[in-house]
Amino acid sequence: MVPKTSPSCPHCGEPLAPFKLPDDGGWDGTFQLACFNDECPYFARGWAWMEEHYGVRSSYRYRLNPVSGQASPIPVWSRNALRDRMIEGDVAVDKVGGSDVIPGQDGEKGSHP
Ligand SMILES: [Zn+2]
Repeated sequence: MVPKTSPSCPHCGEPLAPFKLPDDGGWDGTFQLACFNDECPYFARGWAWMEEHYGVRSSYRYRLNPVSGQASPIPVWSRNALRDRMIEGDVAVDKVGGSDVIPGQDGEKGSHP
């Protein structure tokens, strides 16, 4: 079973916040989780890294796909980027991805004739 506790950022320990995905992102979910902590070292060092490697004033935030459990950086062009996509309130992460649960497989008994 998936624990009820909200996932937190492995870089700064802040709880991850859900945000809606851009429509043209081609992602396989309706929302993902990201660390929106501006003090997060992952985000903070991203500015220098991006400028050094790509010559752009940009950074990235820690992002987690709640469906696959895969973490990857999501590019942000400013501190406020993606903030308008943040979802208000709690999101039940443990309900995401339930479509691939096979009924009866998880200890569901009592259907014997
Ligand atoms: Zn963080």
